[in-house]
This record gives sequence, structure tokens and C-alpha cells, in this order.
Amino acid sequence: MKAKLMPRIDIHDRIELKNALPLDTPYVIHIDPSDTCNFHCKFCPSGNTELMKTIKGRGHGSMDFEVYKQIIDDLAEFRDPIRVIRLYKEGEPLVHPKFADMVRYAKQSPHVLRVDTTTNASLLTPERSLEIIDAGLDRINISIEGINANQYKEFSNHTIDYEKFVENIRFFYDHKKQCQMNIKINGDILNSEQEEEFYQVFGNITDGINVEHTIEYWPKFQDMKVEFDETVSLLGGESGEVQVCPYVFYEMCINSDGTYSLCRFDWNHAMLMNQHVGGRVTPKKIWDSIVLFRFQESFLKKERKLLSVLSCPNCGILKQGVPEDLDEFAGEILDRM
Ligand code: SF4
Repeated sequence: MKAKLMPRIDIHDRIELKNALPLDTPYVIHIDPSDTCNFHCKFCPSGNTELMKTIKGRGHGSMDFEVYKQIIDDLAEFRDPIRVIRLYKEGEPLVHPKFADMVRYAKQSPHVLRVDTTTNASLLTPERSLEIIDAGLDRINISIEGINANQYKEFSNHTIDYEKFVENIRFFYDHKKQCQMNIKINGDILNSEQEEEFYQVFGNITDGINVEHTIEYWPKFQDMKVEFDETVSLLGGESGEVQVCPYVFYEMCINSDGTYSLCRFDWNHAMLMNQHVGGRVTPKKIWDSIVLFRFQESFLKKERKLLSVLSCPNCGILKQGVPEDLDEFAGEILDRM
């Protein structure tokens, strides 16, 4: 196998937040190209069509390209360039017909260093691959939901031509130029032979590969139809709950309708911020807003469990998927803020 065993989240070259916070400029901005998905995965609310109809603001579809351009242009207000524009939040990014144009526009901006995405790759035809590579995408994370068509049907309720799907991924790999590729699968649906097969099929057509564990990825989503072991973290280590959510200190999130969420896991748009910021809303205005400061402050004061109108008190991410434990440094960071 040519690929390195490595997670899609780069945990080795990370800047330690405990020393870097607070940030004048967020490291990462998630922009959701589309909030709809062509899959119906058991663990994910976005593919639950009936549920989505009941959520105000969901079912919007693709982001207006002019809205997107304005967001990228407004990044000029920040002191530093944004390290990563992440074209992904809750839908399938390639549903957006102008996904490659979105990549190109961000890559041409002097206010953006890198652009990446996470996709189920089902719409990654050779034509689209060439467009996306040509636009300059820096990294593509591909989520695999099964090692054959039956598993896709069972887990994602999606009919797939599996051989063609694998060939399309191989095509991307063969033509990818500078773009880094990572492929991961949810290991909880595989036995050990299937896991081996996963590595055999994909291990030579990606740069990095990994088997992840199921976690409670979407806070307050009650209808998750998969079982998972809460004692195991996303990357396979032992889980352990933290009080300070690191995500809210280094990234921000923009939904496909142009609204801003306090959290990138805000699938039900219960944590919107636009109404708390006056005038024309820009990423910098949101980043500097008092509402975000108060939110961050409540974590540093260890008051997460009191954020009862939000999804934070019982957030599974803080048990199984944090990149850094900031609890011990909360007082120090608060003083610096
Ligand atoms: S605690 Fe969970 S729900 Fe709250 S901001 Fe952090 S990741 Fe989002």
C-alpha cells in the first residue's frame, strides 16, 4: 500500500491553541456550498428528508455564487489571510454546480492560503475532477460508506455503481497534481476482512488513508440509526470529555444561505448569529462580535453545561472528537482575551 496511514485531520502539524489564543483571524472558515445531500446516511441528519422539512433554514440548496464571492472578498477585513477555506459543512459539496468555480475564486484571493473539502465522491466524475484540480483545490477528503454496493445501499440508502465509483477516485488520484487526498471509512460497519479489503481497494489511490470510529457527530440529532462505543474516540483512542470547546476559538461557519452559525455542527441552525450583528454582516464583524466573545467566555468559565438553549451541554464531539484539551489553560486564555 502506497498511502500513509493518517487521519484526515492533521493532528501533527497543528499550532497549539493553548499558546495561540485568542486569534485576530480565524484559522478555518467553513463555507457550505450546499446544505443538501444525495445520500441518506444512517448517522446524519442532512439525508433525513422528512426531518429536514421541519427545520427552519434547512433545505436551502446551493449557495448563491454572488453571496459566496462577497464572503471571500470580505476576508480582506482580517489582519491575516485565512489558513483554510473549508468548502463543507453539512451537505454534499459537489451538489453545487459551480463547486470548481468556488475553489478557483478562493484560490485567486490574496486573503486565502488553502482550500479543501470533504465529499462522498459519488459525483466526482472525470470531468469534474479535472475542473476541480485545475481550479487549484489543495486537499480532498473522501468519506467512504461501504466496501461494496450493498453496504452503500444499507448504510447510505444510495444505489451506487461501485466499480465505476472506485475508478473515478482512481482517476482523481492519477490527475491530482498538487492536491492532497485522504480517504477514510467508518470502521464500525466493517469486520476485519472487510477492513483489509478497504485498504486493498483504496490504499494505492490516495495519499492518506484511515479507518475512523462512529461518534455522535451531530449534537441533539435523536434519530441516529447506528450504534457506537462512547469510550472510543474518532481516531481510535480512549475518549474523554472536555469542558472547553476548542472549535469556537479557531474556526467559523457560514451556511449555504449565507447565515452564520456559532458551531460547524449546527445542523439544525439553532445557533445562528446574524441577528446579533447590526448592518451588513461580514466574517470579520461576526468574529469580533460580542455574541461570539460571550460564547467563548462561557466555555473558559466552565459554564458549558449552562448553555441549555444550544447543543453544547451534551455535545458528543467534546467526548470523542476534540483536537486539543484546553481545560487546564482556560483561565490563562480568558486573561489574555
Ligand atoms: S460544544 Fe459541541 S455544539 Fe457546542 S460549539 Fe462546541 S462542537 Fe458545537
